[in-house]
This record gives sequence, C-alpha cells and structure tokens, in this order.
Amino acid sequence: PGARLFEALFEDQSAKARAARGQPIAIRGLKKRFGELEVLRGIDLDVPAGQFLAIVGRSGCGKSTLLRILAGLDTPSEGTLSFGQAGTAAATPRIMFQEPRLLPWARVLSNVEVGLGAERKLPEAEERAFQTLRAVGLEAKAQQWPALLSGGQRQRVALARALVSRPRVLALDEPLGALDALTRIEMQGLLERVWLAQGFTAILVTHDVSEALTLADRVVMIDEGRITLDIAVDLPRPRRRGSVDLALLEERI
Ligand code: ADP
Ligand code: MG
Repeated sequence: PGARLFEALFEDQSAKARAARGQPIAIRGLKKRFGELEVLRGIDLDVPAGQFLAIVGRSGCGKSTLLRILAGLDTPSEGTLSFGQAGTAAATPRIMFQEPRLLPWARVLSNVEVGLGAERKLPEAEERAFQTLRAVGLEAKAQQWPALLSGGQRQRVALARALVSRPRVLALDEPLGALDALTRIEMQGLLERVWLAQGFTAILVTHDVSEALTLADRVVMIDEGRITLDIAVDLPRPRRRGSVDLALLEERI
C-alpha cells in the first residue's frame, strides 16, 4: 500500500499526449454579481489543453465562484466560457472540494461509482471504479465505510470519484486545505502523478503559494475579481518526488 503502488499503475504521458487528452478553456469578459456585490469583474483567461493551472488569491476574492462557474454549478452574470475548439463536444468538467462530500451510507467503491453518473449502469462500471481506486492507492479499502477512513484517504476517494469518468477538465477547490502537512505532501505527489498519467486540464485553487509552484505550469492571481498576475512555472517534473509513504511511516512510529 501507499505511494510505491502508484508507480506500477501509471505510465507518464508526454506533454503532447496530455494536451490531446485535456480540453482547452477560453474565458472572456466573465463577470459575476451577487446582488450589489460584484465578485468577478471581468476575467479573461485562456487555459491550453492539458495545462496545470493554479489560481491563488485572498479569501473572498472570487476563486470558488470562478471554479463553480467553470464546473457548471453556477452561471456568469456577463461574459462567456467555452471548452474545446469549435466542433469539439464539451465534456463535463469534474470538481473536487475541500471536504470530500462522500455518501456516508455507501461503501468506498460505490462512492467512486457515483462519479460515473448514468454510466454507473454499464457492466464495466464496477471494474472501472475499482481500477480508479487502484490508481489512487486505495483498492484495499473498496468495501470500507467512508467514516472509517482518514481525512487523506477520504480525499483520495473523492479524487477517484472525480477521475472515474475520465474528465478532460478537473477543477480542484482547495482540495488539500484541510489535510495535515504530511498528508498534503503525499496528496500533492498523487495529484501530480495522476495528472501526468491521465492528461486532463487541471485548475487548482489553493491559498498555498508553495503548493501552486510545486504543482502548476502556471500561476494566476486574482485580486478583487480581476487577474493581477499571470506567471509561467517552468520546472522539470515530477516536482513532488518520492511522496511520503504514510503506511510505512505509521509502521515505524
Ligand atoms: P474565495 O473562494 O476566493 O474565498 P468566493 O468565490 O467563495 O471567494 O466568494 C467571493 C465573494 O462572493 C465573497 O464575498 C462571498 O461572500 C461572495 N459569495 C459567494 N457566493 C455567494 C452567493 N451564493 N451569494 C452571495 N454572495 C456570495
Ligand atoms: Mg473558496
């Protein structure tokens, strides 16, 4: 169990292959008002296919609002949002939150199957869910109840639920924000690894600038509803090497 498992399950794809799997996003003049409050005041952003983008900014600057709009959970007041080139069918982006939001009455494997939506009825649904659980190193917990897992394990289930439909865009709203430092490092390694292997466009909101620089190709800062900084991070990957193997640590402590 633990980090060593992931290596055997995934082959890293080339940047080109990742770009072919991911979907580009074009945001134009995006504004969002809640009554009198103008939260997003004109966002223009192009995210190339397969890019790992991090969004940072103060609490309340509109990061979650932007992600919710990206994930189709809310609509803009003004402006447009489009996925893919003309003629390409838009896939449903998946989103992951700070809280795993698992169904407490369903076992781990069933929680992952939920991510398949209508495809849950297909004969291969359970096998796909199981393989995705393997990919996050949690196949041993397939029949466990969510309440009996650690916080990090619950977030891995949430990640598997988001990935099981092979999304082309994954939105991540501070997914590691509630985890302890060691688990966060381990999860950063896992996030980078699944992104390297599966090649989706990743949009990560985080208040942790070092996390943004560890994971992203590009960091965008939002301040008062506008993009105030947009920088490329040109570092070799994987950046999060030898992620902490918590199972091994626990054995030794
Ligand atoms: P962030 O994720 O950057 O901390 P949010 O996008 O959650 O910020 O919120 C930005 C601002 O919009 C905050 O002032 C928040 O109170 C407000 N807001 C968010 N959602 C709603 C809503 N549904 N109704 C009214 N105000 C909202
Ligand atoms: Mg937020």
